[in-house]
Amino acid sequence: MDFTLKTYTQLLKTFLSNGYSLITYEMYRSGNVNDKFLIIRHDVDEIAYNALKMADVEKKLGVNATYYFRIVKQSNNPDIIRKIAEMGHEIGYHYEDLAFAKGDMELARKNFEENLAYFRTFYPVKTVCMHGSSSSKYDNREFWKKYNLEDFGLLGEPYLTTDFNKIFYFTDTGYAWDGGKYSVRDVVENKFGQKFHSSKQIMNAVKNGNFPQQSLMLAHTLWSDTFFQWMLLHLREFFRNNIKYMAQRNKFLNNIYASAVKAYWKR
Ligand SMILES: [Zn+2]
Repeated sequence: MDFTLKTYTQLLKTFLSNGYSLITYEMYRSGNVNDKFLIIRHDVDEIAYNALKMADVEKKLGVNATYYFRIVKQSNNPDIIRKIAEMGHEIGYHYEDLAFAKGDMELARKNFEENLAYFRTFYPVKTVCMHGSSSSKYDNREFWKKYNLEDFGLLGEPYLTTDFNKIFYFTDTGYAWDGGKYSVRDVVENKFGQKFHSSKQIMNAVKNGNFPQQSLMLAHTLWSDTFFQWMLLHLREFFRNNIKYMAQRNKFLNNIYASAVKAYWKR
């Protein structure tokens, strides 16, 4: 089974034993990095307690990763954020203020500032990362057309401050490393011409020296070792992605999808 904690452990070990430094996004932005590295970024979209399990795996391997938390209650669990910060991981803000403010820049800035201050009570947050808000017509990154990262004492935003010409980006969206067609906004142009489907393929490439030297991995925090949860999440992901995919092509479906998402993510 792929996308389990066991596979996750093997994946990290494979990078480690092949000379990669495993680093946080903040470390990458600080410029204090080797030639061969893997940035580990986690978007905690929901089921926050599962993030703790992944954080634990990393801690045991002596690895630090970046955890981006949302302000919604499915993600924002103070107890868990505190524990993950205590393990030495980086905490960042997974913002969606422009979508919540329905495009009102001033309101978005006010909320962004407040939410950032809240996350800074756990960790001196230096990087933030947009949440895709795929059902909203507002792209949260538009915020940066008006404001600057420096205005908020920030060093980085993966979509804006990563050199994708040098850094290979791969993500587990849809429980596959090549499920990018399901992403609405989380899209980065792939200049490497390399594609991987399973974690096994990635590990083989790393072992054979066929994997890019510098890369950014987005792993959502839904890797599970509980068979029942694994099954449920995979089924849900399958349906959700297909509905999302169809909704992008059908206005009526899109409206239904948008209201369902709104109801689910009540703050
Ligand atoms: Zn997200």
